[in-house]
Amino acid sequence: MKSFRTKLTVILMIMIGFTMIVAGIAMAKVFRDSHVVILEENMSREIKLLGSTFNFHSTGAEGALQYYTEESKRIGELIESRVTFINHNGDVIGDSETDPLLMDNHNDREEIISAREEGVGHVIRYSTSLGQDMLYVAAPIKVGNEFDGYIRLSVSLQSINQGLQHGWTLMAVWLLILFVIATFVSYRLAASLTAPLEQIIKVARRISHLDYDARVKLDRHDEVGHLGKAINAMADSLQNQLKRIRDNEDLIQSVLDNMTSGILLIDLKGNIAVINPAAEEMLKVKAERVLGKPYLEMKEHYELTKLLNEGLSLKQPVHEERNLYYPEEMLMRVDGVPMLEEEGTYKGMLFLLQNITAIRRLENVRSEFVTNVSHELKTPIAAVKGFAETLLGGGVTDEKTVRSFLQIIYDESERLNRLISDILDLSKIESKSIRMECSPVHLSSFFVPVLDTLGAVASKKRILLQADVPDELYIEADEDKLKQIFLNILSNAVNYTQEGGKVKVIVVHKEHEEGHDTIQFTIADTGMGIPKKDLSRIFERFYRVDKARSRFSGGTGLGLSIVKHLVDMHHGIVTVESELNIGTSFVIELPLLQGDEGQYGN
Ligand code: ADP
Repeated sequence: MKSFRTKLTVILMIMIGFTMIVAGIAMAKVFRDSHVVILEENMSREIKLLGSTFNFHSTGAEGALQYYTEESKRIGELIESRVTFINHNGDVIGDSETDPLLMDNHNDREEIISAREEGVGHVIRYSTSLGQDMLYVAAPIKVGNEFDGYIRLSVSLQSINQGLQHGWTLMAVWLLILFVIATFVSYRLAASLTAPLEQIIKVARRISHLDYDARVKLDRHDEVGHLGKAINAMADSLQNQLKRIRDNEDLIQSVLDNMTSGILLIDLKGNIAVINPAAEEMLKVKAERVLGKPYLEMKEHYELTKLLNEGLSLKQPVHEERNLYYPEEMLMRVDGVPMLEEEGTYKGMLFLLQNITAIRRLENVRSEFVTNVSHELKTPIAAVKGFAETLLGGGVTDEKTVRSFLQIIYDESERLNRLISDILDLSKIESKSIRMECSPVHLSSFFVPVLDTLGAVASKKRILLQADVPDELYIEADEDKLKQIFLNILSNAVNYTQEGGKVKVIVVHKEHEEGHDTIQFTIADTGMGIPKKDLSRIFERFYRVDKARSRFSGGTGLGLSIVKHLVDMHHGIVTVESELNIGTSFVIELPLLQGDEGQYGN
């Protein structure tokens, strides 16, 4: 760019310099020519004046040579010119500078020839005798019989030459000054032409270095202005496109980041090109450690890499479920699809990883549930059917036996009834189709009917059933569900406590940070207790510590799982502690207030 500016400056300077030199030469020529012409005219006028005023003597007379020589000297001094008198033959008869006798015949001198032919003759010639340029002007003069010849005047051109030289020096100085000014002006001119281009180039460079905020700032309406606008429009469109690309990338990134399934993209070379946070979490690897590295480097994930390898070598979709043992035991579903570009070229495989351990477990629990339900239903039905058949067979006549059989049929159908209603409750709760109807519950009043319901069974077993509830306590809860919770837990406590034991309910208000107070219910019995190994499972459906003792107590194995669900619905927690043959304590902690949701939200 600099060179263009310099080039332009040099070209402008050469043009200016050339123009000035040509103009100078032309001026000098005009100056010289016009000077010479004026001089010539003056000299020819002087010749004419001499012709008409000079006192001519006969050229042939004696002493004529002397007369003309002296006169020419006198006139020469007067008019500051060399004066020469030449006769008709061309012989010099008087000269102001040289002795005429020493001079050649002048007949064939250029000025004499043209004077003869044209009336006036003039010529510029270098005079060897004087050693300088001379202007000669001659005219034919004829005065009666006295004189017939030529008068010639000549002057040195030295003064004109000196004037010209002076003019040249002056002009050279001016030329130099003008040249300096022209240099400056042309540099500025070149700069004003190239500066906008330099600006445009700078902006284009910035854009090529991905700085899309760069803009050309030119307020011009010419081609350069249009170029600037075009560059700005290009930057705008690049910026927009880049923003679109970035937005897309962000979108894809946030999809990848928020997916619960793992994503693993393995490129042609077998390197990990993409891994999302879910996959990092699942495989317990860090993206920065594995990205861009061969997937085979994840040696500890032997099972998985084997599966990936199968997919990669086939370059076909794969759908597999495998047990993995690292980083923990899990059932992993891997779906792999080959990644193809638009032209159909293969560029790697995309794998979707899903930890389906929990789903499979749930499915297992479901099918177990169905098996369990059918099994649980079958037992009482078999009993009812068996005893009814026996009675119908008519073989039993003893009234006492008949009554006991009928009692069994009644008890079993009761059990069946309980079982069915528990199953219905549980399925309703699990399908989340029941609503919470919360209201303030006055706890000491609440426990009176609850304890009454169990009073008969308890007193039959001589079990002391007590509730220690501070009178001022209230809780916000769904009263029916709360009743179901305590009936289930208390009936278990009464059922699994031997005769003469104790069952106690203790209710306390626990203060936490503002708005998070809770009510803690402890239901403690002095019963048979639950073995440690079963403690974690008693809230599962149909889980019974000992089928025999549970059946004996008329339990369904569903009571505690219903309790767990109902406590969850109240945003509470239920825990259990137990010591074999000493007793069991269930601790339920419920928030004092339910907050805004009111509905079963978990
Ligand atoms: P069930 O209807 O059989 O009582 P639950 O779900 O209510 O079923 O209880 C699960 C199992 O937990 C019971 O079978 C019982 O063995 C044990 N269990 C529950 N409460 C007590 C308790 N207070 N003392 C001893 N064992 C208990």
